[in-house]
Amino acid sequence: MRKLWINGEFVDGAGGGRQAINPATEEIIGEYAQGGNQQVEQAVQAAKEAFPSWRRIPAGERAAMLHEVARLLRENREKLAMELSLETGRSIRKNRGYVDWSAECFDYYAELGRHYRGRVIPSPEASQLSLVLKVPLGVVAAIIPWNYPLLLLVWKLAPALAAGNTVVIKPASYTTWVSLGYQELFAHLPPGVVNIVSGPGAQVGEYLVKHPDVRMVAFTGSTEVGQQIMRLAADDMKHIHLELGGKDPLIVCADCELEEAMRAAVWAGFLNAGQVCTSVERVYVDQEVFDLFLDGVVDLTNKLVLGPGTDPESEVTPMIRPSEREKVADQVRKAQSAGATIHTGGRIPPSKSKGFFYEPTVLSGVTEDMLVMREETFGPVLPVVPVENFEEALSRSNQSQYGLGATLFTRDPKKVKLYMEEIEAGNVWVNDPLIDNLAGPFGGMKRSGIGRELGQEGFEEFFETKHVHWEIDGGVKPWWFPWDE
Ligand code: NAD
Repeated sequence: MRKLWINGEFVDGAGGGRQAINPATEEIIGEYAQGGNQQVEQAVQAAKEAFPSWRRIPAGERAAMLHEVARLLRENREKLAMELSLETGRSIRKNRGYVDWSAECFDYYAELGRHYRGRVIPSPEASQLSLVLKVPLGVVAAIIPWNYPLLLLVWKLAPALAAGNTVVIKPASYTTWVSLGYQELFAHLPPGVVNIVSGPGAQVGEYLVKHPDVRMVAFTGSTEVGQQIMRLAADDMKHIHLELGGKDPLIVCADCELEEAMRAAVWAGFLNAGQVCTSVERVYVDQEVFDLFLDGVVDLTNKLVLGPGTDPESEVTPMIRPSEREKVADQVRKAQSAGATIHTGGRIPPSKSKGFFYEPTVLSGVTEDMLVMREETFGPVLPVVPVENFEEALSRSNQSQYGLGATLFTRDPKKVKLYMEEIEAGNVWVNDPLIDNLAGPFGGMKRSGIGRELGQEGFEEFFETKHVHWEIDGGVKPWWFPWDE
């Protein structure tokens, strides 16, 4: 049984044991310990005690320890990728890439941490020194969703540690088993710098968010829970960073490389069975090329291979649980009964008696008031909508409560300019969806979140900012007595 990791030691959970399930086969892949509030107390205490010395460690020494995490990630690449595939169901090929990327992320922030602690700014007088000083916050709670249990943890953990914070990690319930295995990546760090506590979000997660010694909550997950965290963090005015749900549009202009746009729609709609926060969930296509586009997308979709992520040949992997699949099926059913057409998919594949698969689904005839166009689907469903022109597509794209990512396919620079400025999304892709960059800030607008991960912006989130004014050499003091001299 995998145990919790607190203060550099394995700890039993108060909540007993749980079984981890492979969503592709429904087989039990291992057991893990479930934590409770008592373990949150222990973990926060350990992180609090570790903080004073961790923040003072010379930058070079800290960087070396973070580079070591990157080295261990690379050394354990195959094992981690396989365990991620077993517990999430997603592709082993993609998971290898995510382990590599996680290692790069640790290397990147290890170096940023060595090079950055604020800046010197001009002072009012020559005898003075003014600094913008960046200091770590203290104990950071990192709360992680199940869809990217390693990568999204690393996006928080690497900058938080490089800034000098200590961290308590709360993995998602569906991916606790793989997450409790990460302790081997952190065993060389001083005890208490990284702690991992499992448990149900509504109990353990909430207790952690409310804990008075937690100074920041870095959260990725659903909008609903993000809103709850914002409320819980309000009393203590904790720093919060929220990466939430999305309803990303893809705009296809008549002037684009149509074949590429079709492939992009299929890739960005069905990757990880549509369980990506930046999955394409609405496609607006210029009416001039609509029929051609729809036929092409349906053809490509029909060729996709469904299977477990552990098989490198699988292109569409299972959903995480039957309950999540049912939410997707419900949106499709409701759209159909309101007049939408299902061109392919829309059902549990008859060939799969085991596993939580759902066929990749292409819809047309949808309207903006349907759930499948308004709410996050988080499953393999592509609604395709004809529009008169680019302006209409842009306006419809922005009529969403979400604003995470958006993609435009065009060869017209004038459209690109307007789109990049006016699209209400934090992640803006042109002719190439879902491409992230370690140095490029990632995050959402509107109900898709607050704050940014990655890049310099993602580093700034984990600091408190101070202005330091220092009178070094006498000088004229405005507060000197007598007042009027
Ligand atoms: P979720 O919101 O159900 O859970 C996320 C985490 O929060 C889990 O660890 C869960 O245990 C915990 N949690 C649940 N209730 C809590 C509470 N009351 N207090 C504190 N913690 C609590 O999300 P999920 O189902 O794990 O993940 C899917 C969602 O995540 C989707 O909406 C997806 O769009 C979103 N997501 C967003 C991004 C992004 O970068 N914007 C990336 C990936 C996933």
